[in-house]
Amino acid sequence: MSKRESYGAANLETRAAHAGRDPEAHHGAVNVPVYHASTITFPTVADLKDKQARRFDDVYYGRYGTPTTQALDRAVADLEGGHWCVSVGSGMAAVSCALMSVLKAGDHLLMVDSVYWPTRNFCDTLLRDMGVRTTYYDPLIGGGIRELIEAETKLVFTESPGSLTFETQDVRAIAEAAHAAGALVALDNTWASPILFRPFEHGVDLSIQAATKYIVGHSDAMLGTITMTDRALFERVKTVAGQVGHAVGSDEAYLGLRGLRTLPVRLRQQGETGLAVARWLQGRPEVARVLHPALPDDPGHALWKRDFTGACGLFGVLLKPGPSPKAVAAMLDGMSLFAMGFSWGGYESLILDTTTSITRTAGIWTHDGPSLRLHVGLEHPDDLIADLEAGFARLTAGA
Ligand SMILES: *Cc1c(COP(=O)(O)O)cnc(C)c1O
Repeated sequence: MSKRESYGAANLETRAAHAGRDPEAHHGAVNVPVYHASTITFPTVADLKDKQARRFDDVYYGRYGTPTTQALDRAVADLEGGHWCVSVGSGMAAVSCALMSVLKAGDHLLMVDSVYWPTRNFCDTLLRDMGVRTTYYDPLIGGGIRELIEAETKLVFTESPGSLTFETQDVRAIAEAAHAAGALVALDNTWASPILFRPFEHGVDLSIQAATKYIVGHSDAMLGTITMTDRALFERVKTVAGQVGHAVGSDEAYLGLRGLRTLPVRLRQQGETGLAVARWLQGRPEVARVLHPALPDDPGHALWKRDFTGACGLFGVLLKPGPSPKAVAAMLDGMSLFAMGFSWGGYESLILDTTTSITRTAGIWTHDGPSLRLHVGLEHPDDLIADLEAGFARLTAGA
């Protein structure tokens, strides 16, 4: 790391603008270039052996990283407040790699019931077949998690706010209970991105980002990251990532780095627009509840206020019972700005019908009406609200 990269305790906006860059090492170029490399050559046997011994930190073979992917690792580690980061090819690769790095046959995992569904599916199929038992717990359990910890519990997995339903978790209380019992804590920190929640200040051991979302921020690349403060844990995750063959393309890493530079300013705007749209939705007769922790009447609001420095543009909407699936389809099919599609975190707005997608096994999800997930992009809030207003007219007409 050159002196240009040591910017001390600068604010996150400043760090986002500088993290991972090293112009002196690249002819003064502002951005780290895209290194297309699989083979890295060594001038001498001694040099090869030396690089091999330092493979966790140096450029050694493409699968372990190139200068471009390593710049992304340094930048994400810096922004999340960790010391080391392992980037992989998608958010799901980060989730599965983190789980496989700390769990083995005979171990027990405590998994939050509001987790991203593909994570649940990984635990219920591949992880189960590898001999790891999973127990799902209520996202609002807090310190009560201690009653579920068994002798074999090696990991408590959190995701806050939860996917689709947006419950805020007391990560600090969960981490205290887990650590008292010798278990590690992982957090899927994708909603907050590295900007809005400081995982390591709340006791998290492994922080996961689906960097595909806000870090890339432009809906054009798949990336995942696992960040930690513990060196042994980093070497373990990096080893497993290599064993199962994870590798990040330098082009993708470059897009991640490019996205990250504007992350704080995009999030600030999308959070603000999102909240304006959420407030407007609260006043609509078709809406039963808006699931957004920054709304004062949200059950997770106090915890969100204690732990987060802002909100992103992703939240849920529960509609009052009544509209048929056909009416909901009429609303969504006719949207002009809100597009339908998976993923989120880009600069553009998205809408998804989540009515049949919410899965609960530790508790019961009770809502009779349809539900939606909205991602608010960088459009003007008035235009988004007009699009939704016209959508509600179609919903009512089709009901
Ligand atoms: C999208 C998402 C993932 C998976 O990321 P991919 O890059 O799509 O594999 C993981 N966790 C959460 C919370 C997500 O929203």
